[in-house]
Amino acid sequence: MKVLTIDSVALKGKRVLVRVDFNVPMTTDLKVADDTRLLESIPTINKILKDGGMAILMSHLGRPKGKPNPEFSLKPVAVRLGQLLKTPVKFSPDCVGSEANQMVQDLQPGECLLLENLRFYEDEEENASSFANELATYGDLYVNDAFGSAHRAHASTEGVTKFIKPCVAGYLMEKEIGFLSKAVANPPRPYVAIVGGAKISGKIDVIQNLLPIVDVLIIGGGMAFTFFAAQDMEIGDSLVEVEKISLARKILDEAKTKKRRLILPYDCVIAKEFENDATRKTVSVSQIPQGWRGLDIGPDSLKIMGMEIKKAKTIVWNGPMGVFEMPNFAHGTFEIAKMLAAATKTGATTIVGGGDSAAAIALAGLEQQVSHVSTGGGASLEFLEGKKLPGVEALDRA
Ligand code: AMP
Repeated sequence: MKVLTIDSVALKGKRVLVRVDFNVPMTTDLKVADDTRLLESIPTINKILKDGGMAILMSHLGRPKGKPNPEFSLKPVAVRLGQLLKTPVKFSPDCVGSEANQMVQDLQPGECLLLENLRFYEDEEENASSFANELATYGDLYVNDAFGSAHRAHASTEGVTKFIKPCVAGYLMEKEIGFLSKAVANPPRPYVAIVGGAKISGKIDVIQNLLPIVDVLIIGGGMAFTFFAAQDMEIGDSLVEVEKISLARKILDEAKTKKRRLILPYDCVIAKEFENDATRKTVSVSQIPQGWRGLDIGPDSLKIMGMEIKKAKTIVWNGPMGVFEMPNFAHGTFEIAKMLAAATKTGATTIVGGGDSAAAIALAGLEQQVSHVSTGGGASLEFLEGKKLPGVEALDRA
C-alpha cells in the first residue's frame, strides 16, 4: 500500500500536528526508562523543524482511563525528548482547551510542542468527533508517525483525519508499512515465517494469513504443543489449549493440501517445574514423560530450522521459541535471533514483529543486525493477519 509521506508536503511556516507513539516505559520516579520510541520519532520531528515548520506532538502514555493522572503525564517525556533533539520541547499541561490552543498559536517556526497525554480524556479512545476536531484545529496538516497505535481507531489516529488535510505518514510509519507490506505481498523467496509464543489463540490469524503466502512456516514456543496434541502425542504438562486442538489439526491438514512446509520442533528442553532452576533435560518431542513440560526448543530443531532460515530471502519472526525470560530456556529464542542476524548479513530481509520477539532480539543485543524490528506489537500482529489498520487507512494515498 502506498500512502503519502512527509516528503511530499511543504512544511515551511506550517503548524504540523504529529501523532507520535511516546507510550514509553517509565521508572518509578517518573523518568523515561527506555527512549527507543523517542529516538524512532526523531527523523520526522527533525524534518519538520529543519524545514521551518512547527511540530505539535501528541501521544498517549499508559492507561489513565480517561482522567488526568500525574503518574501518566508526558511532561518527563518532553524533557527527555528535548535532550535527544538538542532543542527545548515546550509542554502543554492539557492536550485541548484554551491554554493548549494559545501555546500552539505562540509557536514559532523550528519550535516543538508536546501536548499532555491524550488519554486523560475518554474522548480519545471513544474517537469523539468534537475532540478530534479540536485537535485538528492545531495543525495545517497532519502526520501520523505512531505505527504502534495505528490498529486503533482513536481520535488522534483516525478521527482527526476527517477534519484536517493533507494526512501523511511520518518516516517511522513509512518504514513500518514498507517492511511489513513486504511480509504480506510479493516477498522475495524463499519466504520463511517463524511463529512462536505462548498460545495458538493469539497468533491463529497470523498463521492462517501467512500460510498461503509463505514457503515454510516454522512453529515454536508453547503453541507447538497444541499441534503435538493434535497428533495424539504425549506432551506431559506442557502448555496446551484443549479447545484449539481441532484448529491445530485443521492447520496441519491445510499445510498438506496447500503444499506448504510446516516445521514443528523435533526436540525440546523439558523441565519438572515452570522455574528457571528446575531440573531439565533435552528429549525428542515424541518422548516427553508425564510430569514434565516443554519450555524451549532443542538443538535438532534449531539445526532443521537453521537450514530453512539460511536459504530464505525473506524471514518474518513473531513470538519466542521458548520461555526466553528464564535464562535456562532462552537458548532456542536467542539462536533464532542469531540466525536472523546472519541471514541479514547474507542479504535476506528479516522482519521481527513487535512485542515479545522485539524484546527477545533486544535482549540478545541483535536488534541492529536485522532489517527491521517493528515498534508496534499489536499493530504489526494485525498487519501480518492481513487486517487493515484504521490509522494507516486514514492517510492520503500516494
Ligand atoms: P506471546 O505473547 O503469545 O508471543 O507469548 C510470549 C510468551 O510465550 C513469553 O512470555 C514466553 O515465555 C511464552 N512461552 C514461549 N514458549 C513457551 C512454552 N514452551 N511454555 C510456556 N510459555 C512459553
